[in-house]
Amino acid sequence: MSDLKKDIQFVKGIGPKKAYKLNKLGIFTLKDLLYYFPRQYEDRNNLKKIVELKNEDKATIKALIVGVTTSNPRKGMTLTKVDVKDETGYAKLVFFNQPYISNTFKNGDTVLVFGKVKKEFKNIEFRSCEIEHLSNSPKNACKIMPIYPLTFGVTNKEIISIIKSVLLNKELTIKEYLPKDIIDKYKLCSIDYAIRNIHSPSNKESFKIALYRIIFEEFLILQLGLFMFKNGVTEVEGIKFEENEKLKDIINSLPFKLTKAQNRALNEIIEDMKSSKVMNRLVQGDVGSGKTVVALLSLANCVLNGYQGALMAPTEILAEQHYISLTETLRGFGMNVELLVGSLTKKQKERVLERVKNKEIDILIGTHALIEDKVEFGRLGLVITDEQHRFGVRQRGKLSDKGNNPDVLVMTATPIPRTLALILYGDLDISIIDELPPGRQPIDTIAVSKDKRDRAYNNLVRSEVEKGRQVYIVCPLVEESESIEAKAAVELVDELKQEYFSDLRVGLLHGKMKASEKESIMKSFKNKDLDILVSTTVIEVGVNVPNATLMIIENAERFGLAQLHQLRGRVGRGKHKSYCILIYASKSEVCRQRMSIMEETNDGFKISEKDLEIRGPGEFFGTRQHGLPELRIANIFKHMKILKIAQQEARYIIGEDLKLQKFENKLLKNEVIDKFEHVAREISLN
Ligand code: ADP
Ligand code: MG
Repeated sequence: MSDLKKDIQFVKGIGPKKAYKLNKLGIFTLKDLLYYFPRQYEDRNNLKKIVELKNEDKATIKALIVGVTTSNPRKGMTLTKVDVKDETGYAKLVFFNQPYISNTFKNGDTVLVFGKVKKEFKNIEFRSCEIEHLSNSPKNACKIMPIYPLTFGVTNKEIISIIKSVLLNKELTIKEYLPKDIIDKYKLCSIDYAIRNIHSPSNKESFKIALYRIIFEEFLILQLGLFMFKNGVTEVEGIKFEENEKLKDIINSLPFKLTKAQNRALNEIIEDMKSSKVMNRLVQGDVGSGKTVVALLSLANCVLNGYQGALMAPTEILAEQHYISLTETLRGFGMNVELLVGSLTKKQKERVLERVKNKEIDILIGTHALIEDKVEFGRLGLVITDEQHRFGVRQRGKLSDKGNNPDVLVMTATPIPRTLALILYGDLDISIIDELPPGRQPIDTIAVSKDKRDRAYNNLVRSEVEKGRQVYIVCPLVEESESIEAKAAVELVDELKQEYFSDLRVGLLHGKMKASEKESIMKSFKNKDLDILVSTTVIEVGVNVPNATLMIIENAERFGLAQLHQLRGRVGRGKHKSYCILIYASKSEVCRQRMSIMEETNDGFKISEKDLEIRGPGEFFGTRQHGLPELRIANIFKHMKILKIAQQEARYIIGEDLKLQKFENKLLKNEVIDKFEHVAREISLN
């Protein structure tokens, strides 16, 4: 039974009846079945006592059956109640319309019960739980339990038992198809091991090893397919920058040592810049990971080669901040940095434009103003977009059009689907900064309902200010208009000043203020002339004041989670312990869930992912909408690091063997064709 293409109904132990059910799940061949992976796993090793159970818990208990009753509360309805107990208490198992189930329970039997707990006062119930009779199969008790995606008519138990019997069949061999070189190079487990351990992991370690292999292989096959079908696309000739010794001097002049991750990203960028191919690279790093300095050094490298660089930011405040930090660092090295924002006077603007055209300015920093037609560069070599998720793809393109195929770098904390798609298509290379500068302490986040607002203001704000720290207070998001938002912000400041902080120095920042006003407020906050900065979301991205340690967000339920994470990222940027207080005014379940995600994690990727989960993304991050083969386990969002490795390998393989004709790639090629044929079939059916 080595043929994985075998029709499922002829597989030993399956037969036509089960095959029919499996067909409904899209399983037609043995291979389909083996690759029908669990959606999630439940760790049933962790047994609970009845007394410990909480409402809504998903838990496993070991209990003794003490009574079984069946009734017909309504016509056509059977209700089976099973009383169980352990040494700490009693619980009930409830089954609807499974008249025969009562026969399977006997008083005095011990069972493992797994399911969701419903607890009302002292009444504990499990509804539609799963049961394992310990006396029958003591060996299998307690384990990591796979949960399969299911449709009507097939239970998880059935799938588990079918797959188990197939895997236990001694004749089954799952033949390796990845070239040995790749297996060795990336220390992958065999496909046989992977399949077995994905379905029934013996422990967490073996599961991880199996998972890694499958994710890697999924990405590799996908990328190979994409590259193969895209062949003929020529790479654009760009500028060949040279490595310049002076860059080291600039690095040495920084007030800190680059992190390993920053160094890695920088090296990848420098390598790209050295090649004649146009660079198209995304630097992805969570809020506070230190992307700015990587941008700065890339720009410096460009200038050292006699070219000009441009840095575009989504807000004036951020552009201004970049301007200040780049000027401070690069002036000593004779580089001219200039700022171009919408709020300059006509005359100032003209002057800047002229100097950019004449190559008197080495680095131009600005907002959208940079992409206006009037802006002409004398010799543009590198274009960087910060917080790229705030811009459209077209806007970025427009900036590169101002040069002769300049290199392009985009930076973001959270790539959006469009960007992810570009990565997948291989049009964007990725550098990942997955490390925060040393000494950072995680931000403690606490969500409180509106009635505890007083306490947050009276205690927390004061204690931070007394320690010499500073505080941000973010006003509720007002979607209607910036003017209404500004008005609300003004009112909030008045309220705060009157009711809480008459003795503290409070500043205000909102989108309707003139640029010069914004600038002077930010400056005073930075210089510690203000204790509290009340602001609208204009501070959302990029703003960097390391002495600020407390962020309070009003009506936090109105913000998206990714946005809350960005806002929260304004604190925790220095050596002091930082806090974020989310004040919410909604009692909804969704709000509660969202707040607790923010409390639980500081990981931007996790947060975006959870956000999508709650919002119900459907196939938002899936590959379907891009007409690509489906990924079963791999997730371009979650597993970007593996994607990157697989992408590099795919590129290498294709570079050596464009059509995968070499002997060692033959089996791999079959897999690629298999995957992409399926797509072709699907498309032609629609
Ligand atoms: P982001 O990735 O969110 O844009 P920034 O570039 O604004 O982050 O950096 C956040 C803070 O960390 C800044 O104050 C910056 O000076 C500091 N920083 C960056 N790199 C390092 C480093 N290697 N060591 C110490 N501090 C660093
Ligand atoms: Mg930044």
